[in-house]
Amino acid sequence: MFALDPFTVLFTTTLTCVVLAAAMYSVHLSFRREVAGVGHWACGLLAMVGAGILFLLRGKLTDAIALPGANVCLMWGIGLSMIGTRRFFGVAGGWAIFHGAWLLELSAILYWLLVEPNFPYRAAAFSFFVSVFYIDQLRLVWRHRSHHFTNWFFGILLAVQSLNTLTRGVAALFMESNAADLLRRSALANVYLAVANFMALLMTVAFLMLATRKLQKILEQRSTHDPLTGVLNRRGFLQFFGRVRARQQRSDSPLSLMAIDLDHFKAINDQHGHAQGDKVLTHVASVIMRSVRRCDYVARFGGEEFVVLLPETTLPHAHQLAQRIQSLLRDSLQPGVPACTVSIGLAGQQVADESLDSLISRADAALYRAKANGRNRAEIAAPGPLAA
Ligand code: GH3
Ligand code: MG
Ligand code: MG
Repeated sequence: MFALDPFTVLFTTTLTCVVLAAAMYSVHLSFRREVAGVGHWACGLLAMVGAGILFLLRGKLTDAIALPGANVCLMWGIGLSMIGTRRFFGVAGGWAIFHGAWLLELSAILYWLLVEPNFPYRAAAFSFFVSVFYIDQLRLVWRHRSHHFTNWFFGILLAVQSLNTLTRGVAALFMESNAADLLRRSALANVYLAVANFMALLMTVAFLMLATRKLQKILEQRSTHDPLTGVLNRRGFLQFFGRVRARQQRSDSPLSLMAIDLDHFKAINDQHGHAQGDKVLTHVASVIMRSVRRCDYVARFGGEEFVVLLPETTLPHAHQLAQRIQSLLRDSLQPGVPACTVSIGLAGQQVADESLDSLISRADAALYRAKANGRNRAEIAAPGPLAA
């Protein structure tokens, strides 16, 4: 039978908490704007360190100080991680639950330690109050559930911890006080302590994994999307074009491309200022997004030029879409945003392996024709040499 020395378990857990707190804090410093809640998790880990130190000092400090102190630190630690998880999922508040739970827990501890000493009741009170923090997080993870492994991992750990603390609370309540005392000193108690510590560390790692995944998604989004308008950038567009083309070549269906350029945009900038110009760009992007289908890809190719890829779309259909964009732009004037029109050039893929460059340059030629013919109109590109 292997033996777990509680002192060693506590000591190593406390040290690990210090390291994890430092890791969390450095993530918080670097990405505080991208991922919320990591700072609260770091503070929570520091509170756990406090709890560890107070438990380790039991014997040197009187129980009347060490026990309530350590329990409150533990409550703060787990409570702060609850606040952190809330922030992470964009849910504000939680402080009423936090303060309510730790203050009630402190009163319970003081009463059953100093007034009417009772270890099972103390253990039960701690377990029930701390389970509130786990259940609240479990609720949030469930509400924001996704199929990714990290969400499941974190959720399952929270479920296990909720069940674990509730069971321990119930067990403590219905336990003979002798048995409770036995449990306090037995090998089983040491295993329980080791598992509880291990779970707390595992949950921290699971939360870090969740934070890293969020960060990865944000960075991916940034590298493929235009920050001003939120539509794809050139890089993102090229990625999707590759995929759409591969599908297209298998199914041999039509593909069209739209080049959109704002009319007299320089004048809008000059008259209303660059900030208003930016608002116009954002507005035009949102109108384009509203006009096209979910399967179409809208990108901003620098400046005031947008490109739309229309899979499985013939040129006449693409022409209808272009007219829809222009009429929606006319009808959706926004207060405080200068009105503007767009010119559109359309090109349909002629052969399955026509390059994107060729498609874009033909759409651009049609766009210039639309400009030359008076702007605020759509023109269809003439077939290129490839068609022959
Ligand atoms: P045309 O109808 O012939 O297209 O005329 P235009 O004025 O729209 O075209 P031009 O190419 O002369 O001017 C484009 C302007 O777009 C110039 C540039 O300052 C402005 N611009 C480019 N990028 C941005 C941006 O991100 N924000 C703002 N506000 N303006 C931008
Ligand atoms: Mg322009
Ligand atoms: Mg332009």
